[in-house]
This record gives sequence, structure tokens and C-alpha cells, in this order.
Amino acid sequence: MTFAIHGLPVARGIAIGRAVLMAGRVDVAHYFIEPAQVAAEIDRVRAGRDAVIEEMRRLQHTITGMGPKEAPHELSALLDVHLMLLQDPDLIAGVKHWITDRLYNAEWALTTQLEAISRQFDEMEDEYLRERKADLEQVAGRVLRFMKGVPSPVVPPPAPRRGVPRQQDLLLDGTVDVPLVLIAHDLSPADMLQFKQSVFAGFVTDVGGKTSHTAIVARSMDIPAVVGARSASQLVRQDDWVIIDGDAGVMIVDPSPIILAEYGFKQRQAELERGRLSRLRHTPAVTLDGQKIELLANIELPEDAPAAVDAGAVGVGLFRSEFMFMGRDGHLPDEEEQYQAYRRAVEGMQGMPVTIRTVDIGADKPLDSRRTDDHLNPALGLRAIRWSLADPAMFLTQLRAILRAAVHGKVNMLIPMLAHASEIRQTVSLVDHARAELDNRGVAYGPVALGAMIEIPAAALTLRTFLKYFDFLSIGTNDLIQYTLAIDRADESVAHLYDPLHPAVLRLVADTIAQSQALGKPVSVCGEMAGDTAMTRLLLGLGLRSFSMHPAQILAVKQEVLRADTQRLKVWAQTVLDAEDPARMLET
Ligand code: PEP
Ligand code: MG
Repeated sequence: MTFAIHGLPVARGIAIGRAVLMAGRVDVAHYFIEPAQVAAEIDRVRAGRDAVIEEMRRLQHTITGMGPKEAPHELSALLDVHLMLLQDPDLIAGVKHWITDRLYNAEWALTTQLEAISRQFDEMEDEYLRERKADLEQVAGRVLRFMKGVPSPVVPPPAPRRGVPRQQDLLLDGTVDVPLVLIAHDLSPADMLQFKQSVFAGFVTDVGGKTSHTAIVARSMDIPAVVGARSASQLVRQDDWVIIDGDAGVMIVDPSPIILAEYGFKQRQAELERGRLSRLRHTPAVTLDGQKIELLANIELPEDAPAAVDAGAVGVGLFRSEFMFMGRDGHLPDEEEQYQAYRRAVEGMQGMPVTIRTVDIGADKPLDSRRTDDHLNPALGLRAIRWSLADPAMFLTQLRAILRAAVHGKVNMLIPMLAHASEIRQTVSLVDHARAELDNRGVAYGPVALGAMIEIPAAALTLRTFLKYFDFLSIGTNDLIQYTLAIDRADESVAHLYDPLHPAVLRLVADTIAQSQALGKPVSVCGEMAGDTAMTRLLLGLGLRSFSMHPAQILAVKQEVLRADTQRLKVWAQTVLDAEDPARMLET
């Protein structure tokens, strides 16, 4: 039966494919194997399982030798349950099925079967049996850990499968040659990062807001995605046919042939539109009245630089360096590793400038996907520059690495989440200190312009101080909206109140642009607003001449720029600024 699940649109486009559900564990590799590798992958799971069985039997043996005091009865009963689960024929048969028939790699096959069995546990009447789900997850986790020691001989493919499924794929049940879309309750930014090189053609999550960092990474992958789809992961079953409409924020489950045909058509239209836009790649971004507009890229990893160049970016306006710090079990990259990464980004941009933002860890960007922040209000807590200043040695390591990378090209350094003059002074003096350390060591470094993000209302209201200390400003509208309106950007339940066009937000953005320009200091917007074509005219009218966004958005924004007349937009933008309900003015 066809039904639709509504969420928030995050990344454009249509994906049609089969659902892959994730049960908790998403931190495993997902790739296809060759038919010739099936036996080896099954052996890997079997070896992992046998090793865990062996370990448990040894434990049981030890327990039998103990008295009842040291070895409580519950422990032995629990081991029995775990052993039984490990030997469950459904688990084994299911894993074999996913490897043999779908050519999933071993870890993916195990977690997929785990999800299918978990669902059966969820549906059980008996509370005791229902609770055994946690045991199942534990034993699967142990097997996965053992398997880590025996890496797959298969090299994962580099790029996701995308595009329109061929007609014969739609007819063939169980074929491996169809796009796959990932459905999960939640995905952390670190999880999303590992999916950058994965097989998935689209994403849907139950939770998350439009500018949550998970959504931002999905957008940077330029594949259709919907977040905040509430109970999607409960309503969809493994392998269901689904359509993700990333423009409308809808997922259609089990679509009828008519709906499939309609979306197939839409998908082809979108491909045509992409083709049309790609012709603008070498066209300079100049408005009708001759204003030159700088279109920059936001990247998460040095490896994103080629996509930025391909999209026609004239530099990187925001390199979110924190993604290099994530998913490493707390082992942060040292100076050399960071330097090499920044250098790769600089060289990847082929002489164009790269703005490296110092780490913005915290809130919805935890260091590790499994480590949840137990502070009451993490978005208001130890985040970004606060986190860096709390650990000066760690911060200095990053500052030195950035300064060294500046030997290889034009580098700007951007500091996130500043609010206080004392934080500014501390930061500036640590940058000086980092230079002095490199001087002492006799290590070469290059000149960097120092910039601040304006993403807290307090910063936007004290611009004079910021403009005194910094060479340039970059407006982080994602957080500026969050903190101005007191709306958690990652919480789908208040997403309807997250409003880039609220008059208070527009006023702060407008003042930041105007005051920076009055002092001749460069200013750009690097929040999601910059890549939203519905905002381009307004931002141009407010005087903005530098936009930084996901590479995938650059050509669409350029198209708006080419059609704009900033003189006329300037007058109109003032009326929008003064309106009670600016959103209405954008509709006309
Ligand atoms: C912002 O807040 O607008 C921004 C660009 O930074 P981030 O999204 O990484 O918080
Ligand atoms: Mg921010």
C-alpha cells in the first residue's frame, strides 16, 4: 500500500530505490562486493561469530568453576541467552542472504539482519523477550569488533549509486542493481561523513532540523535527503521501495506504478536542469548592473576541494575543520596531520583562497557519534572557540598547522562563536603565540588574514569591537538564527519557527554587512542562507557581495546573480527590512 511520510526538505532531488534500515549501528562500512567474494565475506562473519562463541564458552567454563557468590546465577543465564542468539538460524540465514543475494559486505549484512530481527523483537508481546533486543545488539557488536581484526579484502567503491533505476530493475525483485536509500532514526555528522563515500543514493532520518549538521553534510553530498520524518524508521521495512523527494521533504513508501512514473519524469527533469546550469560554470558571476559577486564553497574535508573547483567556486569560504576531529575515539589529529590536510585543501584549490575555520566541536557536532553530550544545553555550552580556548595546547596545535599551510597558498583563518572582547583578545594573542612558537622552531609559515564568524546576536550587536580586531567577517546565519530566535536548529519539533526571514535576523545580517563595508572590511555569509536561491536577491539587495555555500548550490545561485540588478534590489531590500512579515514580500 502506498503512503507518504512528511519531513523537512534538506537536499534537493529525487531518489528512487530500496530502503536500507539502520538499527543503531551505522559506524560500519557499506559497500558492494563482487560475486566471487561472497564465500570470503560469509567466512568473515562466521569467523567473527565463532570467535565470540568461543570466548563466551570460556567465560562459562570459568563461571562454572566459581562459587555462587562470585558468579551470580544471572550472569550464567545471560551468557546462555547470548550464545543462543548467536546461534540463531535466522541471524545466520539472513546474513548469508544479504551477502549472497545482495552482495553486501559482511558488516553491512550483519547490521541489516540485526535490524530485521530487532523489529521482530519490538513486536513481541512478552516484555522479557522484547528486552532481549538489547542482548542481540550486544552480541552483534562483539561480532563486529572481532571482524574489525579481519579486514575485508574488498575495496569499497568510491561513489554513491545514483540516477534513475532502469525499468528492468524496477521489475526485478531483489536485484542488486538498484539505488539504495538509507533510513535511520538519527545520524550524527560523523556518521554522515563516512557515508560520503558510500553506496546510498538518498537519506531519511526521523529526527533533525534543516540546518542541523547532519542535514548540512547530506546537502554537501548533493543527494536527496529528508530529515525530521518522525517515525519513518518505524514505518518503513527493510527493502521497501521508496521515493525520496528532497525538494518537498517527503518520502513515498511502496509507490504505485503511476507515482513511480511521475517521479521518474521529475528525476529526468532535474537532470536536465543540472545539465542546463552546468553551462554557467565558466560564466563570471556578475550582476546586470556590473557588480562582481564572489561565490565560494563550503567544504568539510580536503577531499571536497575538487568538487568546489568543478562547481566553479572562486575559493573556499568555509572549511569546517572539525570534521577532521570527529569519529577518532578522542585521538585528535596532531600538528603534522592537520598541516598535511590543510595543505591538501589549499593545493586542491589551485591557487584560490581557502578560509579554514578553527574547530567548532560541540552541540550537534560531538567528537564521537556514540558520545552524547550530557550538558543540559549543549548549544549554549562548551562549543567552538570556547572549546578551543579551554584547551590552549590543542588550539595552538591547530593554529600552527593553519599558519604552516599558508606557505602553500592564500589562507584565511576564521574563528567561530565569538561573543566577548576577552575571547577575541585571547584568540589574537594565541595566534601570535603560535607564530612565535614556529619562529622558535625555525618552521616556515605564511601570512593569514584573521576573521570572525558573526553567529551570536551579541557579536552582531558589538561589531565595532570585531571590526577593530579582525580583517574580515563571515556571517554564520545557521547559528545566528538559532541564537536570535531561541530555536534549536537540530530540533524538528520547532523547525517551523526557525525563520531566516524574521525581521530581527534580517536586521542583524543587514547591520553586519553595512558596518563591515563602511570600514572597508570584507564580509560574507557562509550559513545555509547563502546557498538558498530564494534569499539571493535579498542578500544582494542588503549589499552582500560574497556568498559561501555547498558546491552543489553554486551554479543555481550564480543564475540568480546573473539576473539581478543590485541598484533596484537595494531599494526593495530596505522595504523588506522594514516589513512586519518579510517572508510575504519575498513571495511577490
Ligand atoms: C553557521 O552557523 O551559519 C555556520 C556556517 O556554521 P555551522 O553551520 O558549522 O555552525
Ligand atoms: Mg555556526
